[in-house]
Amino acid sequence: MQILDHEIQRATVVGYARTGRAVTAFFLAHGVKPIVTDSARISPADKHYLDRNSVSYEDGGHTARALAGADLVVVSPGVPETIPLLTQARAQKIPIVSEIDLASQFLGDIPIIAVTGTNGKSTTVKLIEAILRVRGTAAASAGNIGTPLITMTGKKHDALVVEVSSFQLAQSRLFHPHVGVLLNITPDHLDRHSTLVDYRAAKLRLFMNQTQDDWAIIPYGLAIPRVHAKHVFYDRVPIPTGPAFTHLFPHNCANLQAAIAAARCIIPIDADAIPYSALADAFSLPFRMQIEGEVNGATVINDSKSTNAASTIAALRSVAAPVVLLLGGRHKGAGYDALANEITGHRVRHTVVYGEAGAFLTTRLQAVGISEVTQIPDFSGAVECAVNYIKSGDVLLFSPACSSYDQFKNYRERGTAFSSLIRQHQGYRSLAIN
Ligand code: ADP
Repeated sequence: MQILDHEIQRATVVGYARTGRAVTAFFLAHGVKPIVTDSARISPADKHYLDRNSVSYEDGGHTARALAGADLVVVSPGVPETIPLLTQARAQKIPIVSEIDLASQFLGDIPIIAVTGTNGKSTTVKLIEAILRVRGTAAASAGNIGTPLITMTGKKHDALVVEVSSFQLAQSRLFHPHVGVLLNITPDHLDRHSTLVDYRAAKLRLFMNQTQDDWAIIPYGLAIPRVHAKHVFYDRVPIPTGPAFTHLFPHNCANLQAAIAAARCIIPIDADAIPYSALADAFSLPFRMQIEGEVNGATVINDSKSTNAASTIAALRSVAAPVVLLLGGRHKGAGYDALANEITGHRVRHTVVYGEAGAFLTTRLQAVGISEVTQIPDFSGAVECAVNYIKSGDVLLFSPACSSYDQFKNYRERGTAFSSLIRQHQGYRSLAIN
């Protein structure tokens, strides 16, 4: 197969999780021989699939053998650009592409709306997809949100709405969305991008291949140098006026504004003609400000998807009642000063911190004079402690501001663990309407 003017017969797939699996399947379907390499263990089920398809693989580390005879290397977003295998590929002049670069070579003329930002990507992707569908456009979502973009090649759609992370953008050279949405940039992932400048530069790569025929949807005041696309400041877009829209969380208003602005680049949209019911699922994705029920008269909110300070600030701004806040997990290198200041200015009755980041969070909160902090190492102990602080009428807000990887596989496993601890509590009452 021809990729980037090269005839590709063998390709090395670096990383064999969701993206690597999809890339391997793509190559198998197109007569290219994949060679798979992963620094972690490949599961027995995956090995069985690879064996059945005569794909050679290595796991538990990368060796030079993985590059033998390769005409192309495809990297998964989780793979740092600095690993020796990629240095070696560069030295051997083997082209390296990201999965979204590879996919974009095979998507033809389908308009791509790509969404990035520190927070709100998944929600906004789902909103854009829903708005386009309500207007009769056969849109589908892909990328970081679930289905790798490469899986959409060869399928019939009027538009693709793609969630792209800073990791994917940092690896990409060719990706060219017709509409690029940059929701916000606040410090995050500084364990991977060494500085905020690098993280920001990765996000801005969304616009690097755009021309005057394309659109950049950005918040007012965000400086984006050397961008050729037409700009829309999404925060100036009016939201629909119906009563259901008056109860949106402030951050979801912003996401909706960006979604309307983006969808308008594809088809004309009358905001007031968008029924709330079409957007309800996008506004209630699991583990984003999800109401679990009540414990001892306090509403319990599960915001396990909050993995940085800005999303926890957004969570606090969405709650009017006094809050008992549960924070913690793995620190990702960004600071917590803005969050500490938000806690001071908000009615936070008590903050419970847990996990690897517990001690650091305690120090940062105490540095701004917050004394109502308790540090508990383990998760279930921390949940129990937080419950002990609530009073009837409060909100117990689990919005951890850190990644889950110290004690859980991902934010879903963490959110599920929180949910079951709350639901097993003797003071628990469901708020579900029968
Ligand atoms: P992402 O895909 O960027 O992680 P999500 O839509 O999954 O975004 O939301 C992740 C977290 O960020 C949740 O805690 C959610 O409540 C919060 N959030 C959503 N939109 C925004 C926004 N525009 N600004 C700040 N926080 C947001």
